[in-house]
Amino acid sequence: EAKRAGGGRYVLFDTEMRERVVRRGDIEGDLRRALQEQQLFVLYQPVVGLLDGGGTDYATGVEALVRWQHPTRGIVSPVEFIQVAEECGLIGAVGDFVLRQSCEDFVRWQAELGEGAPRLLAVNLSRAQLAQPGWTEVVSGILAATGMQAPRLQLEVTESLAAQDQQVQERLHQLKALGIKLALDDFGTGYSSLASLHLLPVDTVKIDRSFVSQGDTSHHHRVLIEATVMVARSLGMDTVAEGIETPEQAAVVRELKCDKGQGYLFSRPLSSGALLDWLGARAPQQTT
Ligand code: C2E
Ligand code: MG
Ligand code: MG
Ligand code: MG
Repeated sequence: EAKRAGGGRYVLFDTEMRERVVRRGDIEGDLRRALQEQQLFVLYQPVVGLLDGGGTDYATGVEALVRWQHPTRGIVSPVEFIQVAEECGLIGAVGDFVLRQSCEDFVRWQAELGEGAPRLLAVNLSRAQLAQPGWTEVVSGILAATGMQAPRLQLEVTESLAAQDQQVQERLHQLKALGIKLALDDFGTGYSSLASLHLLPVDTVKIDRSFVSQGDTSHHHRVLIEATVMVARSLGMDTVAEGIETPEQAAVVRELKCDKGQGYLFSRPLSSGALLDWLGARAPQQTT
């Protein structure tokens, strides 16, 4: 009986595997077209200051998040296609598109909103992008072409990626030398730890949603957030709490002196137009 169950599982697994391969093949082919036919677009999620006195939900920054408007599947999440893009060598094209598009948008907001524009643009990087030869030059080319100031750009890397190897470390230092800011994304989910934070050339630590979402109910998670904020601060880094969904979660990270927050409580990722409306509705009143 156990054997039969095992066999059953094997068949199921086999079918799943085949479906995954077929689907992956579909995604790969479609993604090549998507790049040519401009089906990719970028949404922006506000990152808000938690500790400023007055307008606490005023955006200090935004994070660029890529989406794919697929002709038959609807909107496809990056969770589904970033890894495929990495594996089939398309991540360079996808990543460059996101960087160029978001820098263009950001510079336009600065022209339109002046002081009221977001101060920082966060863009996610994947490992394969960082490993591309000559990529630092690609980045400085995009900055020059769009008029984006390097210190306004923050590139987000994950823990495992940042800690991994010499080549990645060198690349991160090259980016820092250009004046670009770096953030450590999804902190707490990888293998590195508070003890190795000082080894990474990052300006910001983003505390993963899995901690933030339990900060108000689990003492353990609360303590981990608190320790992260303290260590980051002692190293001169600032902190962002990711995935804040409730006022209770916001209250906890604010009490623990996390500098910034991001999450559905403040806003979902928005189109450029919707972001301008969101900012307009929250801009501090001008006193004349
Ligand atoms: P991430 O960089 O950690 O981005 C945060 C993710 O959490 C986003 O998912 C965002 O929509 C979601 N999120 C924000 N607030 C909340 C909340 O309150 N509750 C919940 N449940 N979720 C929230 P998204 O846009 O689906 O992106 C997923 C991941 O895909 C990103 O995680 C990032 O690792 C990757 N990604 C997105 N855009 C890009 C890109 O342009 N390039 C690369 N390489 N990766 C990207
Ligand atoms: Mg991110
Ligand atoms: Mg994250
Ligand atoms: Mg995350």
